[in-house]
Amino acid sequence: MVHNKYLLSFVITLAAIQSIHAVDYVVTNTATNTTGGSRFNNEIGFTYTKQTLTNATGFIWKIFRQRTTANRKNVSKVSLFIDDMDGVAYADNNEIHLSARYIGSYSSDLKREIAGVLFHEMTHIWQWNGNGQTPGGLIEGIADFVRLKSGYVPSHWVQPGKGDRWDQGYDVTARFLDYLNGLRNGFVADLNEKMRTGYSANYFVDLLGKTVDQLWSDYKAKYGK
Ligand SMILES: [Zn+2]
Repeated sequence: MVHNKYLLSFVITLAAIQSIHAVDYVVTNTATNTTGGSRFNNEIGFTYTKQTLTNATGFIWKIFRQRTTANRKNVSKVSLFIDDMDGVAYADNNEIHLSARYIGSYSSDLKREIAGVLFHEMTHIWQWNGNGQTPGGLIEGIADFVRLKSGYVPSHWVQPGKGDRWDQGYDVTARFLDYLNGLRNGFVADLNEKMRTGYSANYFVDLLGKTVDQLWSDYKAKYGK
């Protein structure tokens, strides 16, 4: 028991460090009077949602290999709104907007689906976008790559090797990025880091020694397409 004093001071130090790095999550349901809004309250709930947002952030920092605040985007608060709107969700300006209509009409495992959507949207909060120059399909592909790695993969996603273009976005690009990450461990983290200040297709050559078009051909050939 002589070590308790040291353990206590260690825990206090740890808590102090964590409070410096802490991100606040504020969840607001603006659609409580809709079917989806009330399903959010009854079947998902604020506690689960905040925990999922916290988990997503930690997971994304790990995927991006951002061990210190110096490597990360400077975000201290993320606000999630459940809104009566079309679509599924979007992220903008450290806010995530989630569609109550989507929640209201979803018929499979709702909590699992929303967790997957939140991992995707939270990636948009933390990823670099090359100062606005990164192609939209790559942005969406990285967000779905994180969702792929989290395990919250929807059944309707394409299988590896599918798709027409490397920058088609979403599941197609996520599967391709997963292949590239297999060629170079940490590829997606390195690519994201390079996009901190700009974007160039040469980043693929820098990291993997081939153009992105050649890599896409290799990928399609591997799966016999
Ligand atoms: Zn997205």
